[in-house]
Amino acid sequence: MSFEASVLTLYPDMFPGTLGQALAGKALKSGAWSLDITQIRDFATDRHRSVDDTPAGGGAGMVLRPDILARAIDHVSPADDDRPRLLMSPRGKPLTQEMVRNLATGPGAVIVCGRFEGVDERVIGARQLTEVSIGDYVLSGGEVAAQVLLDAIVRLLPGVMGNAVSGQTESFETGLLEHPHYTRPSEWEGRTVPDVLTSGNHAKIEAWRREQAEHLTRERRPDLWQARARKKPPSHG
Ligand code: SAM
Repeated sequence: MSFEASVLTLYPDMFPGTLGQALAGKALKSGAWSLDITQIRDFATDRHRSVDDTPAGGGAGMVLRPDILARAIDHVSPADDDRPRLLMSPRGKPLTQEMVRNLATGPGAVIVCGRFEGVDERVIGARQLTEVSIGDYVLSGGEVAAQVLLDAIVRLLPGVMGNAVSGQTESFETGLLEHPHYTRPSEWEGRTVPDVLTSGNHAKIEAWRREQAEHLTRERRPDLWQARARKKPPSHG
């Protein structure tokens, strides 16, 4: 069974978007994952096909109606669907590589893309939507966020990444940012590739990469560095 993604959106033409190209696009064509897109507006009932209304209590913007969104969700993801239901939302749990990896080992995901000021709170509870944020900034809609999430998941699906080892040394997989990369030419604008990388000594190369990864993480992401230190088992002896 391949990973099954269902996306609910008011802008279906935004898909597959970036997911139709390169690694994710090839994997989509080969059947490593599937993507179905649902237009939320198809579940509106009035003749204007409206999906939003003014916020209760007043204020700016509009809110996606719970009844219409719930009808769309129920159509795509009936009660016995074992896929997690996610709502892209700046209020959500920050997306991490760990979450991505967990999702990639599951059966798929149902992803709701919000618009306007947001989604009526009642449908979030009633349909067990887990809110997921791609960062501390506000996008105009959930579609780009859904593509970010799916891109990160798809590259981890079995058989998708050409060189599986790269997945294990990448930033975040080990709790560290990745070491720097170099390629040919060995000298460019007076800048050279570090000697150790052309030494052929694999143990030394590994040690150098590790040291660089640790240095970068300490400098750039003290939060990751400390989290990693907390996770490390205490050393004995
Ligand atoms: N009023 C909301 C707030 O202040 O939290 C922002 C709504 S935003 C304009 C519209 C939609 O974009 C959201 O419902 C969500 O689906 C999506 N979105 C915006 N920023 C996001 C983020 N950082 N991560 C995931 N989705 C986001």
